[in-house]
Amino acid sequence: MNYEPVIGLEVHVQLKTESKLFCGCSTKYGAGPNSQVCPVCLGMPGVLPVLNRRAVEYAVMMGLATGSRINHESVFARKNYFYPDLPKGYQISQYEEPLVEDGHMDIEVDAATKRIGITRIHMEEDAGKLNHGATAEEAGSSFVDLNRTCVPLIEIVSEPDIRTPDEASAYLKAIHDIVVYLGISDGNMDEGSFRCDANVSVRPVGQEEFGTRTEMKNINSFKFVKDAISYEIDRQIEAIEDGEKIVQETRLWDSQRGVTVSMRSKEEAHDYRYFPEPDLMPLVVTEEMISDLKDSLPELPAAKKVRFIEEYNLPPYDAGVLTSERPLADYYEETVKLAGDAKVASNWIMGELLRLLNEENRSIEDCPVGPEALTELIGMIKKGAISNKVGKDVFEEMYKSKKSAEAVVKEKGLTQISDTGELSGAIDKVLSANPDEVERFRGGETKLMGFFVGQTMKATRGQGNPGLINKLLKEKLGG
Ligand code: ADP
Ligand code: MG
Ligand code: ZN
Repeated sequence: MNYEPVIGLEVHVQLKTESKLFCGCSTKYGAGPNSQVCPVCLGMPGVLPVLNRRAVEYAVMMGLATGSRINHESVFARKNYFYPDLPKGYQISQYEEPLVEDGHMDIEVDAATKRIGITRIHMEEDAGKLNHGATAEEAGSSFVDLNRTCVPLIEIVSEPDIRTPDEASAYLKAIHDIVVYLGISDGNMDEGSFRCDANVSVRPVGQEEFGTRTEMKNINSFKFVKDAISYEIDRQIEAIEDGEKIVQETRLWDSQRGVTVSMRSKEEAHDYRYFPEPDLMPLVVTEEMISDLKDSLPELPAAKKVRFIEEYNLPPYDAGVLTSERPLADYYEETVKLAGDAKVASNWIMGELLRLLNEENRSIEDCPVGPEALTELIGMIKKGAISNKVGKDVFEEMYKSKKSAEAVVKEKGLTQISDTGELSGAIDKVLSANPDEVERFRGGETKLMGFFVGQTMKATRGQGNPGLINKLLKEKLGG
């Protein structure tokens, strides 16, 4: 029997506001435990929440960026449960009447575009954090840090439209790119600013009805989401084939062991007893506020990609890479503006620059070679001062030492050899060292030209002017 997976993601995004969702405490990450708390976020009796306007604006922006409907009126609700990281005993969230509904996200997998529906985007406050004793002394104890309580989140719930682990990871990446582009979140997955729950079920191909789903909580990497879903699909199919029944449950992805493990089943699941938050008025968002926010939206990755393809004549793949992050797209456009050649700029950035950055897992924002420095290097190659090949070594040195292209070329004596006499001598040596090849060339094997050029470049340590070498070789070989 063939099975088809059905997947839906719930993505939690921490919004990049200065203060928390319902109080003035700082949201800054990494402060000492319980240093950023007040009676409101500690849930003391008698306190009242006051909604953070910026957080609402950010949530609306995400709604607009996903083509969703923004509800003019939405309602906050209390989600009740008991857990040591939740001092109030409830989380303020939105339930039956969320702020944003009915949107979509277009993803690209295997060169095809697919639309994933977004059911809803609602606002909620985060809970605190439990740190389980890491040292021997602390073993067996857990520590409660409430700095994170009341930090603003949006939860983006997808339709069960995703069908493969690759689609899930592409969807998560697309959502991630957009929230970072919009500047509404730092998207930092290690610090928990961006995490998702993956719901997975399988059904026999052709069956209309969905199978029973399991949910994997708090996945914080694009790779983990793919691995966890792949594992879970296989596990479910195997269980069904063995005649077992899938139980609806929450499972945990153990990335160390590469397996999902059961956490709690539906029977033990929380009954949240949602009810409207009595301390907050319904949230009203006016048409004017929505249209102002619409005007303030930056160009989004998908639109930017289309523009890059048209304006700079780039292949879709390159345009996709260059627009995946706003600072990278800005870097590219700045370089094109300075260097004047869209294709050459793209080759350098897609090639050497991203290669070096990726090696160190470094972001474009702290790239040691800026657009001006890269443009200078491109200019030297264009002028013929150095060859393209030497240019790559120069670039690497610029990247390591932060020196200018001129300085590196001067220091290392890498100036291109355009002296006819010197090149001629090098070519003569190459030709006399390879008499067989010369014979074959003269016999009509003209594709050996590349071989001679390569040998001469090698002999000049990459510094020979390739145009001139070609010309001289043709003369000497009588081609
Ligand atoms: P809950 O609030 O209990 O988590 P929801 O109905 O809001 O449940 O669904 C949560 C997520 O699960 C959504 O992203 C939805 O698309 C997905 N989902 C629902 N049913 C299935 C299913 N049978 N298989 C896979 N995913 C599903
Ligand atoms: Mg859920
Ligand atoms: Zn507070």
